[in-house]
Amino acid sequence: MIVTADRLDRARVLMAERGVDALLLSVGADLPYLTGYRAMPLERLTMLVLPREGGATLVIPELEAPRVERGPFDVLAWAETADPVALVARLAGPARRVALGDTTWSVFLLGLQERMPAARFEPASPLMRELRMRKDAAEIRLLRAAAEATDRVVARLASMRFSGRSERDLAGEIAAMTVEEGHDEAAFTIVAGGPNAASPHHEPTGRVLERGDTVVVDFGGTVGGYGSDTTRTFSVGPPAPDVAAAFATLEAAQRAAVEAVRPGVAAEEVDRTARGIIAGAGYGEYFVHRTGHGIGLETHEHPYIVEGNTEPLEPGMVFSVEPGIYVPGRFGMRIEDIVAVTSDGVDPLNRSPHGLSVVT
Ligand code: ZN
Ligand code: ZN
Ligand code: ZN
Repeated sequence: MIVTADRLDRARVLMAERGVDALLLSVGADLPYLTGYRAMPLERLTMLVLPREGGATLVIPELEAPRVERGPFDVLAWAETADPVALVARLAGPARRVALGDTTWSVFLLGLQERMPAARFEPASPLMRELRMRKDAAEIRLLRAAAEATDRVVARLASMRFSGRSERDLAGEIAAMTVEEGHDEAAFTIVAGGPNAASPHHEPTGRVLERGDTVVVDFGGTVGGYGSDTTRTFSVGPPAPDVAAAFATLEAAQRAAVEAVRPGVAAEEVDRTARGIIAGAGYGEYFVHRTGHGIGLETHEHPYIVEGNTEPLEPGMVFSVEPGIYVPGRFGMRIEDIVAVTSDGVDPLNRSPHGLSVVT
C-alpha cells in the first residue's frame, strides 16, 4: 500500500472548501486510501478521525494495532474494556458537520449521534470520491501491473481445453493463474458457459462446458491493494453464425467506446457510443448494464460510465469499458478492458486480443 502524506492535506483542503469539520472513516476503501490500513470488518471499532484543523488519529483495537504501518497520523489503541465511540467523539471535538465513511457500521453511527448531539452527519463519499477518482502515477502503476497480469492469464486461456470441464473447475484454475501471474490475491472469477453466459454476474456452477458454448470469463485480483477486472469471451469449437454476428457488433462497440475516451468527454458519452452501435445492430434490449465503472482500491467505484453521468472525464481517471450482449436462453458475451484517461486521450491498460477466442 502506498500512501503519500499529501493525501491527508488534500482531504483537509476539500473539507475546508465544503465546510466539513471532521472526517470519520472506518471499514472500506476510504480508510486505506488515507492511511494505508484496511480495517478488519469486525465488531470492534477502527476509525480514522481527521479534524479539519489538527492532527489525524487512527483509533484502533489494541490487538489490531500491530498491523498498522506508521504514517502521517497518530495511532490510538483502545483496550478491550474501553469505549471507542467515546474516544472518537472526544477527538472530533465540537465538530458540527461530520462526514462519515459510507460503509461504517450503523451501530457506530448511532453511538456517535448519541455522543455528539450537536453534530450533523453526512456521507463522506462526495468528498472521498473527489480524492480517489483521479489516480496518481503510483496508483496507475499498480493498476497497470494488475491489468498486465490478467493479460497473461488470458494468453494462457487461449490454448486451454474448456470442453468437458465444469465452470467451477475452470474458475478455480483461473483464480490460481491470477495469483501465479502476479496478483497478491484473486478477487473474483466468473466462468459462464452456454445459456449461463446470458447472466452477467453468473456464479460458476457444476455445469460442464461443451462444444457450441460461448463462455464468458470475467476475473480480477489485486496488486498492492489495486484491482484488475478483465473479460474475454471464448467459443468452444467454431461459433454459430448468430453468435459470430453478435460478437462482431460487440467488438466494434467496445473498440469505438474506448476510442471515445478522452479528457472533457462526458462519462455518459462513452456509454452512448457503445450502446448506439449495439442498438443499431438490433441487440439494444440485450445490453442490460452500464458500460463501465471506475476501479482502484475497489473493483467498482467512481466514475460510473452510465447514461446520466454528465461528469467530464479527466486525466488520471481509470475505469472499465465492458459492453455485453446477453440473449436469454441462448448465449452471452462481453469484452472488458480497463483504460486510463491521459492528458490527451486514452491508455488501455489491458492489451490482450479481443476476438472471440476459439478453444477446444
Ligand atoms: Zn460486473
Ligand atoms: Zn468484470
Ligand atoms: Zn467490470
